[in-house]
Amino acid sequence: MRKKIVAANWKMNMTQAESAAFIKSLLLEIGDMADVEVVIIPPFTAITKVTESLGKSQNIKVGAQNMHWERSGPFTGEISAALLRDLFVRYVVLGHSERRALFCETDEIVNRKVRAAHEATLRPIVCIGETLEQRDKGNVEKILSIQLRSSLADLNEKELQETVIAYEPVWAIGTGRNATPAQAQEAHAFIRATLREMSDDATADRIRIQYGGSVKPDNARALMSQPDIDGALVGGASLDPRSFARIVNAAREGHQL
Ligand code: PEP
Repeated sequence: MRKKIVAANWKMNMTQAESAAFIKSLLLEIGDMADVEVVIIPPFTAITKVTESLGKSQNIKVGAQNMHWERSGPFTGEISAALLRDLFVRYVVLGHSERRALFCETDEIVNRKVRAAHEATLRPIVCIGETLEQRDKGNVEKILSIQLRSSLADLNEKELQETVIAYEPVWAIGTGRNATPAQAQEAHAFIRATLREMSDDATADRIRIQYGGSVKPDNARALMSQPDIDGALVGGASLDPRSFARIVNAAREGHQL
């Protein structure tokens, strides 16, 4: 049984004070639950405040939104995996569609980052997903297959198992238009079948695949009760602790189904 993983991608939002207030409210809402893994992914500037505010909570982890693939050196403005580990960060989002579209990240760059993350024992959350144009042309599977195989190239079975995939159809991110549970399940099943081809049954069955794209409290349960949907990567709805808590609770209910 895969443990569901629900992550809050705050993007370029949340001051230190807002982050502390969010964590205080979230802990009141959900406590330190063990049946769902929760990851808070603040901007770099609020990572330490989030960690401090979490105190002794064991099951809420902290993530980062990006990193560079090199270990150190003259890369002004960049952050390495080792620097993130120094802040007790456990997860890192890589290949988000905003970074692919706005910062020209290719699958090859994403792959370098994924390998560097594993080398530093950081767990990558690797985002893949098609644009509306690609979907309309019937190319969803082709695009997902290329992104998966190139972004995860040269990983061993253990590294694959410790990687989280986030299926995020680009047309659903920040648009209020989510994939239907059936559309999302179809894509997730294809992703798992591709992972099976890339590794073996045991590995593919262990890899968690999150859905992302306009996940809200009202649609979270239907999405996360699909057999291959192992959690959610949440943008807009993760900025409010009550709405994020409702999504976490929806994952819990899905877990019990
Ligand atoms: C995201 O940024 O990863 C995301 C899914 O955003 P939203 O939930 O706002 O669509």
